[in-house]
Amino acid sequence: MAKIVYRRHDRNEMPLMPPEKRKKTFDEYALGFPVNVAIDEAYRCILCKKAPCIPVCPAELDIPKWIEQIQKENMVEAYRIIRDKSPFGAVCGRVCPQERQCESNCVLMFKDNGLSVAIGALERFAADTVRISGLPFEEEKAPETGKKVAVLGAGPAGLSAAYFLAKRGHKVVIYEALAESGGVMRYGIPPARLDRKALDFEIELIEKLGVEIKTDHVVGQTITYGDLKDEYDAIFIGVGSGRGKTIGVPGEGLIGVYTAIEFLTRINLYEAFKFPEEADTPIPRGKKVVVVGGGFTAVDCLITSLRLDNETHLVYRRTRETSSARDEEWDHVAEEGAILHWLTQPVEIIGNEKGEVVGIKCIKMELVPDEKGGRPRPKPVPNSEHIIECDIVVQAVGQGPNPLAYQDIPNLKIDKWQNLSTVDSRYRTNVEGVFAGGDVVNGGDTVVRAIRHGRDAAEAIDEYLKTGKWEYEEE
Ligand SMILES: Cc1cc2nc3c(=O)[nH]c(=O)nc-3n(C[C@H](O)[C@H](O)[C@H](O)COP(=O)(O)OP(=O)(O)OC[C@H]3O[C@@H](n4cnc5c(N)ncnc54)[C@H](O)[C@@H]3O)c2cc1C
Repeated sequence: MAKIVYRRHDRNEMPLMPPEKRKKTFDEYALGFPVNVAIDEAYRCILCKKAPCIPVCPAELDIPKWIEQIQKENMVEAYRIIRDKSPFGAVCGRVCPQERQCESNCVLMFKDNGLSVAIGALERFAADTVRISGLPFEEEKAPETGKKVAVLGAGPAGLSAAYFLAKRGHKVVIYEALAESGGVMRYGIPPARLDRKALDFEIELIEKLGVEIKTDHVVGQTITYGDLKDEYDAIFIGVGSGRGKTIGVPGEGLIGVYTAIEFLTRINLYEAFKFPEEADTPIPRGKKVVVVGGGFTAVDCLITSLRLDNETHLVYRRTRETSSARDEEWDHVAEEGAILHWLTQPVEIIGNEKGEVVGIKCIKMELVPDEKGGRPRPKPVPNSEHIIECDIVVQAVGQGPNPLAYQDIPNLKIDKWQNLSTVDSRYRTNVEGVFAGGDVVNGGDTVVRAIRHGRDAAEAIDEYLKTGKWEYEEE
């Protein structure tokens, strides 16, 4: 009998709210696959035995295994397989740069139609279906060990460490400085990109395993390392890299200049878009805003500013292709009306006699080859100064660590950027019983990499709690 061959067709694309509509709401604009589309997309996956998508996923999810479950319409099992490696499938399905990770190495990229399986959209689908349908979802955990671990910071690194430790039967308490948990997933990434119901659901599943989250606890202030070290058998530090950097030009002290973190936190945490009726925190509306930077953070500032009816510009010293944000996101903000000035570098923020911002002076750049073989360097183009008039400047040029949580740990190794140094690939610091991971160690990366750090550190902590051994060879 002739074999029936399933004809693969083009990839199903994520449905989006139209730009005019999405500009008026902080609700999520990527709408997710309907069931029939998700199952259809899942069938595009050929379930490779040696799947090349797995090693390029920083969390090494077993992608074909859970996509096969979507093909079988068993979303609970699909989600369970995702959660074997990561407690944040709903988040990663939305915010991971899949086109540079799993999807970049999908065999369909090199066969047939050259379009990868929409792995991110399917991951989101499995997680959302479990949440929205209310299907029973219980997770197993090992019997209680009697050991206690303190986790500092409730971002993806800390929450992931807590999840995998709780599953191994350890008691975990997270100390979080802010009033809500989630780290950058809550105070940085706007709800337009990450639905808070999806985030809350995944944090609640972690709490359901017995993890206690103490919010409004600033470690180094409300509580210190000295208080924690006697009460806990091990400590994991995952306090991120949340201190906004500035661009380093004259005029940074003017009224109307924000760091990205300050700007985004006002909206995402303190709901300043409801000011003055329902919130106390003000935010500029109907103004002219210039965002400086070219990464995830810059995109999130643009998304946020556009939703406040601001005329919104981006200034970035490199090109779109050499920026670190996702390509599709530049398309989205451009569709919503953002004006993107590539190869443009700010040299001064200009103020009026009242000390308020009235413009930003910029210079054009060109990319020239790097003598040391690195990526091309931006070089100023002579006589290209120009002024972009504006009322607000948002500096989205990276974050640095805030060492408050760990500055009183005696002899703890810190690098020249104030990041925490780990001494081996098992996330150990040089102080016995103290582990660290996520942005506080790597200085700023991705959600999925923070999740991986948390997972691997949990494994190393578990081993330490069971054996009491601390010897390591410095790597
Ligand atoms: C605006 C923005 C957008 C981003 N967008 C993306 C994206 O789309 N995709 C992606 O993959 N990555 C993105 N990233 C990067 C990603 O969010 C981070 O790499 C990731 O959140 C790091 O996780 P973490 O747990 O190490 O730190 P964080 O998420 O920063 O969490 C650290 C937590 O520790 C708490 N903390 C700090 N100090 C103390 C203290 N003294 N005591 C107690 N708690 C403390 C903080 O309040 C915070 O809740 C983005 C980053 C930013 C800033």
